[in-house]
Amino acid sequence: MAGSTVLSEKCGSEGNALGPRQFDLDRCIHCGLCLNACPTYRELGLEMDSPRGRIYQMVQVSQGAPITPFYLEHIGLCLGCRGCETACPSGVQYGSMLEAAREEIETRGSRGRVATWLRHLFFGRVLQSRVHMSLAGTALYLFEASGMKALMRAVASLKLLGVLGDLIQLAPSIDPPFYFSQIGKTFPAEGEKKHRVAFLAGCLANVAFARLNEATVRVMQKNGCEVVVPVGQGCCGALHVHAGLRNEARVLARHNIDALSAGNYEAIISNAGGCGATLKEYGDLLADDPEYAGKAREFAGRVRDVTEFLASIELNPAMKRLDAVVTYQDSCHLAHGQHVRSAPRKLLSSIPGLTLKELRGADQCCGSAGIYNVVHTGMAMQLLRSKMEAVNATGASIVASSNPGCMLQLQAGVRMHGSGQKVMHVVEILDQVYKKVAGGRSNKAGS
Ligand code: SF4
Ligand code: SF4
Repeated sequence: MAGSTVLSEKCGSEGNALGPRQFDLDRCIHCGLCLNACPTYRELGLEMDSPRGRIYQMVQVSQGAPITPFYLEHIGLCLGCRGCETACPSGVQYGSMLEAAREEIETRGSRGRVATWLRHLFFGRVLQSRVHMSLAGTALYLFEASGMKALMRAVASLKLLGVLGDLIQLAPSIDPPFYFSQIGKTFPAEGEKKHRVAFLAGCLANVAFARLNEATVRVMQKNGCEVVVPVGQGCCGALHVHAGLRNEARVLARHNIDALSAGNYEAIISNAGGCGATLKEYGDLLADDPEYAGKAREFAGRVRDVTEFLASIELNPAMKRLDAVVTYQDSCHLAHGQHVRSAPRKLLSSIPGLTLKELRGADQCCGSAGIYNVVHTGMAMQLLRSKMEAVNATGASIVASSNPGCMLQLQAGVRMHGSGQKVMHVVEILDQVYKKVAGGRSNKAGS
């Protein structure tokens, strides 16, 4: 790091409280077995962009080295995909170390004013406000409805817009009405009521994935679940945690715990791998909060990804055939963070007529990684190109996923490098085969 601009000196009494814990840093034995599991290392071949290299830099900072642009660059380029955690024989908890390193960067004010203001606007305002999200969603909808998005995508396909073109490819399709109107409602089970669950609808998903949320509830109803979409719920804080804004995430976590505390739900359901991983880690996030630590552990113990829950109960077999070849892209935070790998595959395999074709490197990051593809678009697009080569090799007509962010990235991948594949969440595929059997009365709120 010699010669780099010093952004922040490690100093004062905060020194021991911030950054990864020494115990976690010491766990790395520098064996390098994680290197080939790391997407940025595979792309760049640079030690400083490998898990081992990043941990080495964290150790340097923990020993008093200053935070420099060099450090920001290499910690920033990490996807937080946690592929290295799965590969590591030494049990290194890389995800939590990365979050702590990023928290230290944020707390020491190591970013410029403009970057800090933009982050405050997005994480502090947009993600936490229905009004702001609805405004942003409406603006995107008008952009799409006016034909501007299609026009700009056509121009982008000629490689005339550079990074802006890539960002336009990533823009979600907005299909009103937004899901906010469903929050506070209860949806009855179809047939015998066997389960009572709460559904967390996300934050951006209320605007960009309203139809996915509806499909999730319908599939749960078809499987004997009464689904409550509790009033008072909000953003889970996953994007905040990944960005190092753990205090902001703690506020959001307490809010969700309070909103769901009275429900006595059998499970708290998420349909987003990234959100679910953070919800399951509320116990760690609030471990030092004497009032909430116990409640957070109890809350986290009930969180289930929708695929995990459905695969654990007796699945309603009344499905229509779907004669299609489907391949499945793991969500990093579902596979590496929550260790849920077989459940989505089991659900897909239970659909009559469906052929599940495994994807080469299915648990390697597609480049989505929260807002990574917006902030590090170049690297995200490099990873997406490789991912789409693997998708095209399967011959599948549907790419299934279990995380809305991955779906946006894969949809862009299909437009840029694919051959017309449909990108669907696992529950959207289930919804389709259930709907074909009977129109059903699902998604009608009971109260
Ligand atoms: S993170 Fe794990 S796999 Fe990677 S170098 Fe350290 S001990 Fe080895
Ligand atoms: S989280 Fe992903 S990108 Fe970051 S070091 Fe680990 S494997 Fe590499």
